[in-house]
Amino acid sequence: MRVLSYLQRAFHGRPYASKLLILCSISSGGLIAYADSQPDGKMSIVDHGNKKSQKKRVVVLGTGWAATSFLKDLDISSYDVQVVSPRNYFAFTPLLPSVTCGTVEARSIVEPVRNMIKKRNGEILFWEAECLKIDAANRRVFCKSTVDENLAGKDEFDLEYDCLVIAVGAEVNTFNIPGVAEYCHFLKEVEDAQRIRRTVIDCFEKAVLPGLTDEERKTNLHFVIVGGGPTGVEFAAELHDFVFEDLVNIYPGVKDLVKITVIQSGDHILNTFDERISTFAEQKFSRDGIEVLTGRRVVSVSDRIVNMKMKSNGEDISMPHGMVVWSTGVGSRPVVKDFMEQIGQGSRRVLATDEWLRVKGCEYVYALGDCTHLQQKKIKEDISEIFKAADKDNNGSLTIEEFREVIEDIIIRYPQVELYLQSKHLFDVVDLFKDAEGNDREEIDIEAFKLALSHVDTQMKSLPATAQVASQQGAYLARCFNLSEKCKRNPEGPRRFRSGGRHEFRPFRYKHFGQFAPLGGEQAAAELPGDWVSMGRSTQWLWYSVYASKQVSWRTRLLVVGDWSRRFLFGRDSSRI
Ligand code: FAD
Ligand code: MG
Repeated sequence: MRVLSYLQRAFHGRPYASKLLILCSISSGGLIAYADSQPDGKMSIVDHGNKKSQKKRVVVLGTGWAATSFLKDLDISSYDVQVVSPRNYFAFTPLLPSVTCGTVEARSIVEPVRNMIKKRNGEILFWEAECLKIDAANRRVFCKSTVDENLAGKDEFDLEYDCLVIAVGAEVNTFNIPGVAEYCHFLKEVEDAQRIRRTVIDCFEKAVLPGLTDEERKTNLHFVIVGGGPTGVEFAAELHDFVFEDLVNIYPGVKDLVKITVIQSGDHILNTFDERISTFAEQKFSRDGIEVLTGRRVVSVSDRIVNMKMKSNGEDISMPHGMVVWSTGVGSRPVVKDFMEQIGQGSRRVLATDEWLRVKGCEYVYALGDCTHLQQKKIKEDISEIFKAADKDNNGSLTIEEFREVIEDIIIRYPQVELYLQSKHLFDVVDLFKDAEGNDREEIDIEAFKLALSHVDTQMKSLPATAQVASQQGAYLARCFNLSEKCKRNPEGPRRFRSGGRHEFRPFRYKHFGQFAPLGGEQAAAELPGDWVSMGRSTQWLWYSVYASKQVSWRTRLLVVGDWSRRFLFGRDSSRI
C-alpha cells in the first residue's frame, strides 16, 4: 500500500512521469512497451449552476466511450458543458468479460466521471440522471434523476441546449424472442458482469447440494452462450479458464459434469474476423471441450430449457441449461427511438448521421458511438455535379488534368474511392481513365466517367459498434467544436460539389487499429492493420499490454495490472459476494 500511495503521489506531482510506462514482459522473447497518451491537466472543479453565461450550452448525454473521449478533448473554455448520464462512471467495456469470472474486479475497470471532470481546466456539470425525452423543436432535454427525489420531492428536470451531443450507446437486442428478457443474462453493463459472476458460483453450489441426480447436476452446470461474436467467444473462454483453472479444484466432485456450449446462427464463430482466426478459435474450443453449435437459431428460452431450430432443415432441438448468456447484438434505446420518430427517422433501425456526425433531419444535434449509423454519401448520387465541377472549360469532357484538380476533394469527401483503388490494386486515380481494354484515354465524357466510378460505392462499409469507433468519433467532434470559429472563416473541408464553396470541416474518417479475440488458456488472436494476423501466447501478451495502455487513468491501470498479477499468483476468488 505504501508503494502504491508513493507511486500515486509521484505520478500526480509529475505529469510527464505518467507519460510512459515500460512494461518489460519477456514473452516469446518479446519486449512490450506501452505508452499513455492521457493528458494530465490541472485540477479545478467549479459549480456554476446559477451563473448566466454567454458561452454556448452543450449538453452531452452519456458517459461511455464516445462521450468521455469528446469531453476529454473539448476546449471547455469556449462552452458551457453539462453531462447527463445514469452512470456516474466510465466503464472500460473490453474488460467486462474478465469481470464475469473475477479475473479483474469490477471497480478496477471503472473511472468516476467526477475524477475525469476534475482533470479538466474549467467547468463541466454532471447530473446523474437518465434522459427520457429529447425535444429537438424547443432544444430541450427532459431528464429523471437516478439517485432519488430531492428534498423538494422532485426528481425530474429539463435542460436547454444550443448543441446536443447524443452518446447514449445501445441496449441489448432480444429480437423479442420469448423468455430471453426473463431468463437470460446479458453482458453489457458492469452490473451484468457482476450478476453473471454470482450466478456461475450459484450454479456450482446448487450442483453440489445433496439429493440430486447426476443429470440434474449436469443441467445446473451447463453454461450456454448464445452468440459467437467477440463478446460471446471471450466470455466462453473466460468461463472455461475459471472453471478448469479454479472451480474444479474446489468442487472436485462435479468437475466432469461441467459443459460450456456456444450457439451461433452463422456457420462459424468470430465470423467478422479473418477466416484464419475463426478456424483457430474453433479448433482451440474443440480441444478445450467447449461445444460450438453453428447454424442454429434460438426460438425461445425458459428457466431450464433453450429451444432452437436448425437453420438447414427446420428441426427443433431443446437443451437443458443452468445459465444462459445472451450476446447477439444491440438495438436502439427508447429515448433514441422516440427522438427518431420526432425527426422523421421512425422507419430506421438506428439513428442516422452524416459524415460530420450531425443527426440527419435535425439541427444542432450530433450523435456518436453505438447509438448511431454514419450514412456515407454515395458518389453515384453526386456524379453529375462532380463532373460539372471538374469540367472547368465546360466542353462536356474531362481531361486527366481537370480530373487531377478535383481528385483530392473527391477522396476526402468519398473515402470509398480510396478503398476501391486499393481493392483494384491501382496506385493512381487516373488509372480510372483507362478503357475496358486497359488503354489510356486523354479525355472522357460523362457516360464514361459514370462507368469508371460505377463500382466505387460497393466499397462502402458501415462502421462497427466498437469502442474504437466511439472514441475516435468523440475526439473528432471535440476537434470540430474547438475549431468551429476558425473553420467558419477558413473552411478546411473538401469542396461542396453541389452547392459550391467548401465544407467547414473534413468528414469523420475511421482508422482501424485492429481487433483482439482472447481465447483463454493464455492464448489470443489478433487481426492488425495490413492483413496481419497473429495467434497464440505472444498475442495474449500483446493483448495484456494494449489493454493496460488503453486504461483511462493510472489508477485503473495499476488496479487492472494488480488484478492480473493476483490471478497469476492466487487464482480467481470464488466467493459469492
Ligand atoms: P457506451 O459506452 O455504452 O456508453 C453509453 C453511455 O450512455 C453510458 O454512460 C450510459 O450510462 C449512458 N446512457 C444510457 N442511457 C442514457 C440516457 N437515457 N440518458 C443519458 N445517458 C444514457 N469495443 C471494442 O472496440 N473493443 C472491445 O474489445 C470491446 N469489447 C466489448 C466487450 C463487451 C462485453 C461489450 C458489452 C462491448 C465491447 N465493445 C468493445 C464495444 C464497446 O463497448 C462499445 O462499442 C462502446 O461502449 C460504445 O460506446 P458508446 O459511448 O457509444 O456507448
Ligand atoms: Mg473539359
